[in-house]
Amino acid sequence: MDYRFSGNSGLQLPLISLGLWHNFGSEDPYDIARDMLLHAWEKGVTHFDIANNYGPAPGTAEMTFGRVLREDLASHRDEMIIASKAGYWGWDGPYGNGGSRKYMIASCDQSLKRTGLEYFDIFYSHRYDPQTPIEETMQALVDIVRSGKALYVGISNYPADKQKEAYDYLHAAHVPCVLSQYKASIAFPETLVNNLPVAQENGSGFICFSPLAQGLLTNRYLNGIPAGSRASKNVFLRSEQVTDEVVARAQRLGAIAARRGQSLPQMAISWLLAKNVTSVIIGASSVTQLEDNLQAINNIHFTEEELNLIQA
Ligand code: NDP
Repeated sequence: MDYRFSGNSGLQLPLISLGLWHNFGSEDPYDIARDMLLHAWEKGVTHFDIANNYGPAPGTAEMTFGRVLREDLASHRDEMIIASKAGYWGWDGPYGNGGSRKYMIASCDQSLKRTGLEYFDIFYSHRYDPQTPIEETMQALVDIVRSGKALYVGISNYPADKQKEAYDYLHAAHVPCVLSQYKASIAFPETLVNNLPVAQENGSGFICFSPLAQGLLTNRYLNGIPAGSRASKNVFLRSEQVTDEVVARAQRLGAIAARRGQSLPQMAISWLLAKNVTSVIIGASSVTQLEDNLQAINNIHFTEEELNLIQA
């Protein structure tokens, strides 16, 4: 594994980080989740991305991670960067969603309990909340750091103007935004244009999620929708998104990847790393997928011709 500094900070992150949004909840097989975490760890993946609502059931991905850490990796805590977030729905009522100080701090406390951690390395505001003054959300992050519950803070999914406001507030409070998290892939490149330059100009690291467009940029759907796949669950990736056109594009991209000696998911991850982002957060449902994806770091250089073909 190689590591890159996150923005202007002294924090280094692995080129590939592992996310626990899917396949690590109480409804997923624990042994597979554990095998993936241990495999990633052995390959130098030091950064694990979680959130208060990851499961299903919501919150249980934090419990799975906490159990593996406790039972298998406890002595390695200081070699890891563990992130959690609050911002989307966490619980019913007016204090379980958004960016209020009440929600941010209560959710951070709950996440610490579920993981069994004393502190998070990075705690994020998961989304911009237009109903809460941005100063309130940012001050909650600052106070989470000041009270020892997190070492660094991050933001995710903020529109570019609010992204800049967040950086300015955090900078003035001497708790600079270490990392900004956005959806980015060959299929969804917009944030690389709209948000990556803002992060770079303000000294924040930039980490991409859903680099494989939840599985569309792989060979997962070339022969229909397999049982157990994300599209088969029809929640975050819906079966109607797997159109003939999407599958045909995956096939054409797969042919370019093959000429580079890569699988399509490898090329999709390499393509992001070539954009000089800090790290790419991958998801996986098996050790085989994870291992396939980790090989992406071995070929992150693209010729102009390859970039043009991918664009086309
Ligand atoms: P990806 O785009 O990497 O999608 C992962 C899925 O793609 C896997 O679950 C699997 O689907 C399929 N897949 C992965 N590798 C392969 C392979 N080699 N061959 C075939 N299929 C493969 O990322 P995610 O959408 O899972 O997001 C990654 C992480 O980003 C999340 O876990 C989370 O930490 C973070 N995130 C953050 C968000 C935010 O708002 N800040 C929002 C979303 C994600 P299958 O399960 O069908 O096998």
